[in-house]
Amino acid sequence: MNRSPNISPNIRHDALHRTEPHDTLTADVVVADVVVVGARCAGAATAMLLAERGHDVLVVDRATFPSDTLSTHAIARTGVVQLDRWGLLDRIVESGAPAIRDVVFHSGDASVHRAVKERFGRDFVIAPRRTVLDQILVDAAATAGARVRTGVTIEGVRRADDGRVRGVYGRTGIDPIEVSARVVVGADGLRSRIARSVGAELTRVGPDSGTTQYTYVAGEWPAMEYFLGDGTFGGIFPTHGGEACIWVCTDTADADVARRRHGTPDAMFDALLHDALPELADRLRGGTRTAPVRGMRQLPNQFRRPVGDGWALVGDAGYHRDAVTGHGISDAFRDAELLADALDRALRGDTDEAVALAGYHAARDAMAAEIFDITCELSQFPPAARFAELQKALGRAIDAHAAELAARPRPAPCVAA
Ligand SMILES: Cc1cc2nc3c(=O)[nH]c(=O)nc-3n(C[C@H](O)[C@H](O)[C@H](O)COP(=O)(O)OP(=O)(O)OC[C@H]3O[C@@H](n4cnc5c(N)ncnc54)[C@H](O)[C@@H]3O)c2cc1C
Repeated sequence: MNRSPNISPNIRHDALHRTEPHDTLTADVVVADVVVVGARCAGAATAMLLAERGHDVLVVDRATFPSDTLSTHAIARTGVVQLDRWGLLDRIVESGAPAIRDVVFHSGDASVHRAVKERFGRDFVIAPRRTVLDQILVDAAATAGARVRTGVTIEGVRRADDGRVRGVYGRTGIDPIEVSARVVVGADGLRSRIARSVGAELTRVGPDSGTTQYTYVAGEWPAMEYFLGDGTFGGIFPTHGGEACIWVCTDTADADVARRRHGTPDAMFDALLHDALPELADRLRGGTRTAPVRGMRQLPNQFRRPVGDGWALVGDAGYHRDAVTGHGISDAFRDAELLADALDRALRGDTDEAVALAGYHAARDAMAAEIFDITCELSQFPPAARFAELQKALGRAIDAHAAELAARPRPAPCVAA
């Protein structure tokens, strides 16, 4: 809810300091073409692509960086293509994220090995820690010219008298802040404050029955591995520092039963692996667990209306899918580029804003649809044969999607050589 009409007249372009006692909620106003709320996969990428094209972008996040977030982090070919097109893939490999060239799929007694095929000039996928990936994205946004402000919590949007969104308000520490912008972008994740503040309704809802849990284990991890059990799917994502992210997806009801029976998340995780994925449990013997088990239950599958008068949503804020397909980071990268293209045209006056944003909405929904449908079905754990069939369909959809992204005009590299 708006707590004061619009914004104060103290306009500054590069400050977030209040000039009045904070209980008056009168703050300096920071002005930007676009304010992006949230600075991870969706927000930093959107800010980078807009700043690269000369727009004045402020990107804020309540977090500071580097910092972790609740997520495993395999990046599908689709996301790898985007990072490569943006000039960031080599930087991620240089950070120590292993280039993963071998993938193994275990189901029952069978194990299928395959090499990652060379496509679009790259023959690997990656699973960088979010502490590293998100910092690289934030740095790239800043290098491209975006103003990045961290430790800033946005509390809602401001509207003009005609209802158009014209900025955001929030706090940096105890100090109030105000941002006036032509467009507000909510890249603030699944529980988006911006989505709530603008009243962005859900337009398509699937099941929310899946749970994903994960930990880290130090050891020898030569390949990305997937293990399919009865109602359970797990795996190994090799990452920085000789560790692997070890994860397991289940039905939430099964996870809840296991949690009640075993008490702690770690004990439940071990029991799930032991009972449903014994081959994965065996692979972990001798490794050293380096982190407690974390996870999320009842992962939603949903689309929100992502555009309106003066605002847009990108990434999980506008579209969320269960983690079973590991495609959220790639979705965020795709939508960041679709939105940046649309906003660029609108801000330049080449296209009417409503038309440009409607185009983003339509393109997002069309490009996300196939993998959304596959994700919804996988997240309900169909019988093993159908699950394996859907995995193959997912691979084909990712390849087609990656080809579509690779064929788009390549933006200028965002990182200086
Ligand atoms: C358990 C789990 C496993 C997953 N595994 C994978 C995987 O293997 N591969 C994959 O591709 N995807 C995976 N995902 C999905 C992936 O994590 C998300 O799709 C991705 O992080 C979305 O990025 P985003 O930038 O939209 O949102 P987020 O990464 O959620 O970032 C949102 C940012 O907004 C900031 N923010 C929120 N509210 C405010 C506010 N009011 N003011 C200021 N800042 C705010 C937050 O601090 C945060 O930094 C997984 C998700 C989960 C939950």
